[in-house]
Amino acid sequence: MLVDTHVHTCFSNDSNMAIETAIHRASELGLAITITEHMDMAYPEADVTFDIKQYFKDYAKYRSEKVLLGIELGMRTECFNDNRDIVNNNPFDFVIGSIHFVDNIEIYLEEFYHSRSKLDTYNRYFESMLDCLKTYDFIDSVGHIDYISRYARYDDPELYYYEFSDRIDEILKLVARNEKALEINTRRLTNPDTVANLLPIYKRFHELGGQMVTLGSDAHKPESIGSNLAIATDIAEACKLRVVYFKQRKPEWRK
Ligand SMILES: [Zn+2]
Ligand SMILES: [Zn+2]
Repeated sequence: MLVDTHVHTCFSNDSNMAIETAIHRASELGLAITITEHMDMAYPEADVTFDIKQYFKDYAKYRSEKVLLGIELGMRTECFNDNRDIVNNNPFDFVIGSIHFVDNIEIYLEEFYHSRSKLDTYNRYFESMLDCLKTYDFIDSVGHIDYISRYARYDDPELYYYEFSDRIDEILKLVARNEKALEINTRRLTNPDTVANLLPIYKRFHELGGQMVTLGSDAHKPESIGSNLAIATDIAEACKLRVVYFKQRKPEWRK
């Protein structure tokens, strides 16, 4: 069974989805899901954390082979200790490490791009990802490497491997060496050009020793669950990467 390993429900500040709705939609699609609620510490304006004890208490009865319980950690160097404690002290199936902030500015905001070139902002984004990955050895998969392309205010926000190959190579090498997975986030894969632009990054991951990918829709609503999972599976196959999901922090795959 294919697993959508990146699904937000109502413990995430930006989703209202009930877990029952997510489970119902996943079962219609014949998918399993991993719930990965947002935990972004030190967020300046909003509370992007959740009550982990309550999460496990409320969702324990749904936990099964088809419903795994994880977390999406916002990686920031200054939150390292707090994030590590969260992972060490709770029985997650899966931990995604994501970059949502760079230099204390949310990537989502216009302010991050204001009066700066694409080269500059994207390079800072990758540097900050690399800085975090050097110490965040307790994550299982690196979330949405193309996240910045969702929000960048440039005529062409696409991520081209050749434009940032030095920094991307460093990141991919580190992920491979640490035997972590790389996420193929399916949110932007609706556009065939985007697929073509991202493919060299996943290919390079394999060339640099990477072996595992997780597939995640990043759904915040039922209609997004499982979106483009077939395209992501094709990408993985084309790049000779094994599609895994994590259960009790260990990689599993379809035999
Ligand atoms: Zn994210
Ligand atoms: Zn997410």
